Amino acid sequence: MISRKTSAVFSNFARRCSTQSPLNVSTATTSSNLTDTSSSDAPVELERNPYEKEPRKCLLCRTSVTLDYKNSRLLQQFISTFSGRVYDRHITGLCDKQQNKLVETIAKSRRAGYMPVFVKDPKYVRDPKLFDPLKPIRPHSFA
Ligand SMILES: [Zn+2]
Repeated sequence: MISRKTSAVFSNFARRCSTQSPLNVSTATTSSNLTDTSSSDAPVELERNPYEKEPRKCLLCRTSVTLDYKNSRLLQQFISTFSGRVYDRHITGLCDKQQNKLVETIAKSRRAGYMPVFVKDPKYVRDPKLFDPLKPIRPHSFA
């Protein structure tokens, strides 16, 4: 009885092995291919650093808005309602280049008569605020 059972088990095992042998061969070939290249575990060289910080861009650089001395409505948004002066760059958050260009353009606009010199034009006071002067984007350098 036992010997017949074991022989039956053995024959089943042999049949299974014979059916699996082509599979085994194929897996062996793939594993040999992997060992041949040996690049599966090697560190992958990326083109760019995924942890690199995104370059910080100011409002005007981000939206690619060009300052024009005739566009007084945009320029007035950078002017204080209380003092009529141009906000500093720690409030506007502009980069050096854009802030200098803004000051030049506002001066040009005032000379050309598109903007009042000492006050913000009252018809633009209710325009949407680009920034909050009471909560500056960066702290002031002297504060
Ligand atoms: Zn900028």
